[in-house]
Amino acid sequence: MKSNYLQTPIDYLKGVGPNRADLLRKELGIHTYQDLINLFPNRYIDRTQYYKIKGLQPNTAEIQVIGKITKFTEVAQKRGKRLVATFVDDTGAMELVWFRGQKWIRENLKLNTKYVAFGKTNAFGGKYSMPHPDLEPLEEHEKNMRSAMQPVYPSTEKLSNKGVSNRMISKIMQQIFIDTNGRFVETLSQNILSELKLISKSEALFNIHFPKSQELLSKAQFRLKFEELFYIQLQLIIKNLIHKSKIKGFPFDKVGTYFNTFFKEHLPFDLTGAQKRVLKEIRADLGSNAQMNRLLQGDVGSGKTIVAFMSTLMALDNGFQACLMAPTEILSVQHYNGLLELSKDLNISIEILTGSTKTSKRKIIHEKLESGELQLLIGTHALLEDKVKFKNLGLAIIDEQHRFGVAQRSKLWHKNTSPPHVLVMTATPIPRTLAMSVYGDLDISIIDELPPGRKSIKTVHRYDKNRLNVFRFIRDEIKLGRQVYVVYPLIKENEKMDYKDLMDGHESLSRDFPMPEYQISIVHGKMKPADKEYEMQRFIKGETQIMVATTVIEVGVNVPNASVMIIESAERFGLSQLHQLRGRVGRGAEQSYCILMTGYKLSQDSKKRLETMVKTNDGFEIAEVDLRLRGPGDIMGTQQSGVLNLKIADIIKDNDILQHARYHAKNILNKDKSLSTPENLPILNTYKSLSKYKNIWNYIS
Ligand code: ADP
Ligand code: MG
Repeated sequence: MKSNYLQTPIDYLKGVGPNRADLLRKELGIHTYQDLINLFPNRYIDRTQYYKIKGLQPNTAEIQVIGKITKFTEVAQKRGKRLVATFVDDTGAMELVWFRGQKWIRENLKLNTKYVAFGKTNAFGGKYSMPHPDLEPLEEHEKNMRSAMQPVYPSTEKLSNKGVSNRMISKIMQQIFIDTNGRFVETLSQNILSELKLISKSEALFNIHFPKSQELLSKAQFRLKFEELFYIQLQLIIKNLIHKSKIKGFPFDKVGTYFNTFFKEHLPFDLTGAQKRVLKEIRADLGSNAQMNRLLQGDVGSGKTIVAFMSTLMALDNGFQACLMAPTEILSVQHYNGLLELSKDLNISIEILTGSTKTSKRKIIHEKLESGELQLLIGTHALLEDKVKFKNLGLAIIDEQHRFGVAQRSKLWHKNTSPPHVLVMTATPIPRTLAMSVYGDLDISIIDELPPGRKSIKTVHRYDKNRLNVFRFIRDEIKLGRQVYVVYPLIKENEKMDYKDLMDGHESLSRDFPMPEYQISIVHGKMKPADKEYEMQRFIKGETQIMVATTVIEVGVNVPNASVMIIESAERFGLSQLHQLRGRVGRGAEQSYCILMTGYKLSQDSKKRLETMVKTNDGFEIAEVDLRLRGPGDIMGTQQSGVLNLKIADIIKDNDILQHARYHAKNILNKDKSLSTPENLPILNTYKSLSKYKNIWNYIS
C-alpha cells in the first residue's frame, strides 16, 4: 500500500463515480479514502433476523422482511403524491411507502422479485407500512456478509433519495479494506497501546465497520474514542505549552506593600480555603515568566471579587496597571463601589469607564491612564475602545466572561505591546469535561467552597394559582426587614408580550403592596442607564422593598439583605439562568428563598429543570443536568472549540475516557515535550497530519 493511499480523492474508489463522489463530499464531508474510513457507524443492527409480515408488532425498531413487490400504486395526498408498493410474503401483505425519490424507485425496482426490505414499520388500522425502506435483492443479500451487528452509517435525506444507501456505503467501505488488506498505519505508541490494553488501529477500524463480535466492537469503540479525545487534548496542551514558552508575561516578582497591607490589616473577613488556594495559583502564574491565561470558576456568591481585587494588588505592587471589565453597567458600578470600599485605606487611584461616562470625564481618564497615574480601571465594553490606552497594563480581569466574545477578549489582550496577564471569571460553571475540551488551553482554578455561615437557599415550585400564598409570604419577609426580587422573562422574539407581562405584574404588585407602606423598584432594558442605576441604588440602600425586573439583574448584583427571589414563568428560563438568578439571594446571613412560579402546562424538560432547581444548590450539578438536557451545542464556547464535531466520542458520555486521554497526553508531553523519541513517532506523525486539516482541527489558530 502506498503511503499516501488514504489521501486519494474519493472519486477514484471502485463503486463511487463522480455523482456519488459529489454527494459524499457535499452531504457527509467525505473527500478522501481517509475521510471514508473515519465515517463511523451511528449504531448497529441485527441483520441475521427476519420477520414475517403476520408477526409484525407496532413500533418496533428497524427490522427486515423478505417478500415481493406485487404492484405499485400512486396515492394523491395534500401535497404531491406518495408511491405505495404492496409487499407480500407467505404470511400476509404490507405496504412500502415513498414520499420522495419515486421516479428512481419505479425505474429500479422489479415486480415479483424477492427483496429484503429493511426499515421501521408503522401500523395504521391493523395494516403495516414501511416508509422509505432500504431494499436489497435477496440474491445479492445472500452473497453479502451478514452480521448480527450490521453498521448503520450517518446519512442525509438527499443521500437516501439519490440511492446512496447504507448498503452502498458498506460496500465501498469493504472496497477500501480489500484494497489495503485491512492494514492501516498505527497512530498511537506501543506504550499507550500496551498500558491501556488497546487493540491496534487496523483491528479497531475493521471491527468498527465489520464487527466480529460484541466484545471486539466494544474494544474498537474504546480505542477510537480514546484516540480522538487524546489528540484533541494533545493539541490543547501543546497550544498551552507553546503559549507559555513563547509569550513572555511580566513577572510580578514582588509581593509588595499593597497586597501585604491589605492582607494583614484590611481584609474584611477570613478568606475561605478555596479562595486562598486560588490566590496561590494566580500568584504562581504572575510570578513566573509566562503570561497568565487563567479561567476562574466559582459558583455565584463564592467570593470571586475579592480574589480579583487581591490579584490586581499584585499588579499594582509591581508598578503595573490593572483593569476589570464586566458585561453590564450595573455590574461595573457595583464592582467600582465594592473595590472603592475594599481599597479605601490603601490610597489607590481607581476610576470607572462605561458607555454613560461624560466626555469631559472620559478625557481625564484617558490622560491619567496614559500617564500611568490611574492604577485600576473598571468598566464595561467601553474599555475596549481604541482611545483607551494604558501606560503599562499588567493584568486584565474579565468578569462573567461568557458574556464576551472571543474577539472582544483578544482586543483587551492587544492593548499592550506585550499582552497582560489575563484572568477570566465565570459563575456559570462548565462541567469539567466540557471545560477541558473547550478551555483546555487555559489553566483553570475553581472556588468550590462558599463563605462560611451561608444557609443554602430553599427553593420551591409554586403554580400561579397559589399566588396569594406567595404574596402573604412576601409580606411576612418584608415585615422582618428583608427585600424581594420579582423577575420576569424577557425574550427578544416575545419582547412586546414580555414587557406587557412585566408591567401587568408591576401593577398588580403595586395594588397588593400599596404605597406608602411599600416601595417598589422596577428595572428593565428599555430604561435609560441613569434611571436604571437610580432604581438599583434605591433598592441597594433599602429604600424599596421589592425589585421588579427582567433578567438585567441576572449577573453579579449584590444586595445581601434581599432574601426572596421570585421567578415568574420560570419554565421559560434555562437552568443556568435560573441558577444565576437564584444566586442574587442567599448573600446575607438570613435564610433565603427562591420561588419558581409557573402555570400547570409544563414540558418534560421544564419539569426536569424545575425539579433540579428544587433539589440542589450546587452549580456544578446543575451544569451537568443542563448539559445532558441541552447537549453541548448551546454552551458558550463549544462552537469554536470543535467538541461538536467529534466523530465517535461523546463529550458527555465518554467523560472517563476523556480523563484518561488528558492524563496520557500530559504524561507523554511531560517526558517528551517535542515528541521526538522513536517511541512517540506514530504520535508525532499523526499530530502533524491532523494539524494539516484545519476543518477538523479548528483549535489551531
Ligand atoms: P461572586 O463569586 O458571585 O462574584 P462575590 O465576590 O460578589 O461573589 O461575593 C459574594 C459575597 O460574599 C460578597 O458580599 C462578599 O463580600 C462575600 N464574601 C466573599 N468572600 C467571603 C469570605 N471569605 N467570607 C465571608 N464573606 C465573603
Ligand atoms: Mg461576581
